[in-house]
Amino acid sequence: SNLVIGLTGGIGSGKTFVSDTFAKKGIVIIDADVIAREVVDIGTPALHAIVEKFGPDILQDNGSLNRSALRQIVFSDSAYKRWLDTLLHPVIRQEMVKQAREANSTYSILSIPLLVENNLFELVDHVLVVDVSENTQRLRAGSRDGQSAHQIQQIMNNQASREERLHHADDVIINDGEKADTEKRVEELHQKYLSLAKNRAK
Ligand code: ATP
Repeated sequence: SNLVIGLTGGIGSGKTFVSDTFAKKGIVIIDADVIAREVVDIGTPALHAIVEKFGPDILQDNGSLNRSALRQIVFSDSAYKRWLDTLLHPVIRQEMVKQAREANSTYSILSIPLLVENNLFELVDHVLVVDVSENTQRLRAGSRDGQSAHQIQQIMNNQASREERLHHADDVIINDGEKADTEKRVEELHQKYLSLAKNRAK
């Protein structure tokens, strides 16, 4: 079966930049964040279950999920958070597996920000961690979408530490430097994964 590389890293570490660089080489990228949104699109069984649970006020006027309302509910009550995770995690997982199976490049990249936190190692053959200093994380996440320093710090506190992530890494991209350096490192890893995929196919 297909070689699947799991890509992960903390907020602002450069996962998107790295996956865009692999995509330019023709590699299929499967994005857990995109899938997590798609499974609650209008008309999905998961959205239906959410409306049953929390009532129609959880929807926006156009019928789509009011994400910030749902976020507030589960943030304030861990039983609701568990309920939602139990609903969505299997669906998201199934869809990631399906897309990885259908990927038609020599290998594929499965980008899962919370790979380590959610213990999803069995979905991937190989773990690639994008690593930067916490300072770089704060700077880049802050300048990108204007989240407050406080919000960014809260997210960082809820994510795995660099050490935990690195402990599970088969490969690491150190992304504290220039984008051009990271592009070179991606090319190196691309060659490695092509040959890994080839040897598996034998
Ligand atoms: P998140 O998990 O918060 O979505 P991410 O891990 O996907 O973040 P990116 O969006 O790729 O991170 O990068 C964060 C910001 O830092 C972006 O604006 C990106 O262009 C910039 N960036 C990424 N790598 C570098 C680099 N090596 N040098 C300078 N800027 C960079």
